[in-house]
Amino acid sequence: MRIVVVGAGVIGLSCAALLAEAGHRVEVRTARSPLHTTSAVAAALWYPYRANPRERVTAWGASTYAAFVDLALTTPEAGVRQRRGTELLRAPGDRPWWADAVPDLQPIDDPPAGYVAGWCFTSPVIDMGHYLPWLQRRVERAGGMITVRRLRTLPDDADLVVNASGLAARELVDDTTVGPVRGQILVVEQVGLDRWWLDESGPTYVVPRADDIVVGGSDEQDSAVDVVNPQQAADILARAVVLVPALATARVLAHRVGLRPARPTVRLESVQRAAGPPVVHCYGHGGAGVTLSWGCAAEVLGLVGPC
Ligand SMILES: Cc1cc2nc3c(=O)[nH]c(=O)nc-3n(C[C@H](O)[C@H](O)[C@H](O)COP(=O)(O)OP(=O)(O)OC[C@H]3O[C@@H](n4cnc5c(N)ncnc54)[C@H](O)[C@@H]3O)c2cc1C
Repeated sequence: MRIVVVGAGVIGLSCAALLAEAGHRVEVRTARSPLHTTSAVAAALWYPYRANPRERVTAWGASTYAAFVDLALTTPEAGVRQRRGTELLRAPGDRPWWADAVPDLQPIDDPPAGYVAGWCFTSPVIDMGHYLPWLQRRVERAGGMITVRRLRTLPDDADLVVNASGLAARELVDDTTVGPVRGQILVVEQVGLDRWWLDESGPTYVVPRADDIVVGGSDEQDSAVDVVNPQQAADILARAVVLVPALATARVLAHRVGLRPARPTVRLESVQRAAGPPVVHCYGHGGAGVTLSWGCAAEVLGLVGPC
């Protein structure tokens, strides 16, 4: 089957990889190249954040977790590592609703000052600067191609379209329930950190990669401001230094902003349009597109079927 995938973020590329590997003829059309997408800004820690519905997110998250464990073990060039880390809570909280997706989640006994509880678990950290180019190569190795072209409507020159346009689904398919949640981060030099830290109340997070550390963050509902706010950057770094004092002397390498494609629930469904080829929609992953990517891509493949 000839399939056009709209979008080359983590969702579009993951779908394209599985579809091309299943033998479909796949073209990815994207307004911007993979390293200029929201996906490239992601921290990217496996963690279900701002994504619903819970049951489907837990299932997609669990299968994505397993896929990342496999990549961490077998494919170093993908840029995926398993790292232990700690989520800290300022108020008592129930076991996370997604805990079944993680093999080793345990409560901590001795939360630091200011916190009352926390969870320790191993989670994949994905270095998007390596991962997205690796995904692109995987699509191309399977015979898929990637064309940089901004579309005004969904294409009709294919047997089937996969809509993985993220926030742009708002315009492309008139879905006003998808909207931006702005996130700002810093990238700082590696100072020998190998554990991640997260305090969702900020949110404040520190995610070590091989060569640098992502420090976040912010969560601004309905803000589409895509420029860096220097005062906010200083505030984020100050919060992170409280969490991880070793960051106090770390050199800042970069500042980034991204707009999470938030939606009340992820849209993953097949739709037969009145005119034009059928569409499988896969967008609205909020703050968890990386976390859900392989699980969603596998479900898209299941909806598309064999070639
Ligand atoms: C600061 C920050 C930190 C984050 N941290 C994490 C994290 O730790 N873990 C995690 O799982 N997630 C994280 N996220 C969320 C994650 O980045 C998103 O959920 C994910 O990127 C969504 O992927 P996507 O492929 O749907 O969208 P995108 O990456 O936005 O891709 C959309 C694609 O559609 C294309 N497109 C748009 N309009 C058109 C058009 N008109 N024609 C053709 N193509 C078009 C774009 O060019 C792009 O290729 C974070 C996000 C931010 C902002």
